[in-house]
Amino acid sequence: MRQPAAAQATSAAAEPAPLLEVEDLRKSFRRGGGSLLGRRGTAVRAVDGVSFTIRAGETLGIVGESGSGKSTTGRLLLRLLEPDSGRLRFDGQDLLIESRSAFRHRRRDLQMIFQDPYASLDPTKTIGASVTEPLRIFEKTTRRESENRGSELLSLVGLRPDHLGRYPSEMSGGQRQRVAIARALSLAPRLLVADEAVSALDVSTQSDVLNLMRRLQRELDLTYLFISHNLSVVRHMSDRIAVMYLGRIVEIGPADQVYLQPRHPYTRALLSAIPVPDPLIQRTRPRIVLTGDVPDPAHPPQGCNFVTRCPHAVPVCHEVDPVLEPDGGGYAVACHLSEGQETPDRTPRSSAAAPTQTGP
Ligand code: SF4
Repeated sequence: MRQPAAAQATSAAAEPAPLLEVEDLRKSFRRGGGSLLGRRGTAVRAVDGVSFTIRAGETLGIVGESGSGKSTTGRLLLRLLEPDSGRLRFDGQDLLIESRSAFRHRRRDLQMIFQDPYASLDPTKTIGASVTEPLRIFEKTTRRESENRGSELLSLVGLRPDHLGRYPSEMSGGQRQRVAIARALSLAPRLLVADEAVSALDVSTQSDVLNLMRRLQRELDLTYLFISHNLSVVRHMSDRIAVMYLGRIVEIGPADQVYLQPRHPYTRALLSAIPVPDPLIQRTRPRIVLTGDVPDPAHPPQGCNFVTRCPHAVPVCHEVDPVLEPDGGGYAVACHLSEGQETPDRTPRSSAAAPTQTGP
């Protein structure tokens, strides 16, 4: 599924410039490492030419199975991992030409919420110390200023000022995630990357935290990149949804359209696995069970990445890599059988490997 820079699926030409523009982002890791014989291991393309935009105030959801590259994409945006290639523009500024120290300052605008709040909070520090640490580092606030700001941040996320003196082990999972959100908000960011931010929580706590995030988005004019394996949660949160498979976006468009009228066979299979509340509908709706092997990402198949599992594959799918083709209305799908796809020219997959870096 080749994804040219044009495949960005913005909604309309006349809209204001996006807050974040991601173009042809690539990241590979070496699997197997080096050896005494000088072998360099096998390159695994974790993110393979991903392009999208996010407008200010919007939520873009990224969904996909484990290993689809969605979390790596989030980490690349904040340069927690360095991309091999591609372009990242935030508010018109090219993030990748900035030095590490210049970008460190930029990080005030871009913050991340992780899946496991217990792991992201230092268990030896009080909640107050954790929430106000970025303020002390970046703004050199005094102790009194930090305490006042810490109280404000906790109240913003629905916690009490007396929680400042507690330790993470004294808080519930939902409270810890609220603390993690307060910490992420401490420097007044404009874009939050939430990576499986509610996956570790029980269902009712998930709903509370999602509602909190939506309220904060309205009140603070935040922009979200919301990453999850759970399509229902992503739909609840997102204005648009991007579906990733083997390091690439295979479908992107308005959330309701992706959810109600999915065009890519992989998206249809993901959706068919979600139970619906009505037992009558649940009994009669077909479940698409994917057969075939999940490809080794170090050795993706010839042609379409999804061809080994796709129930609709035709001969051309084994030869030609489908392009993520925008339809002009803010929707793009990488599938030869999708409406609007041009007749494939049978150009084989490019064999040029992306630059690689040893990594996890
Ligand atoms: Fe890929 Fe072909 Fe299936 Fe479309 S129909 S997803 S191009 S294998």
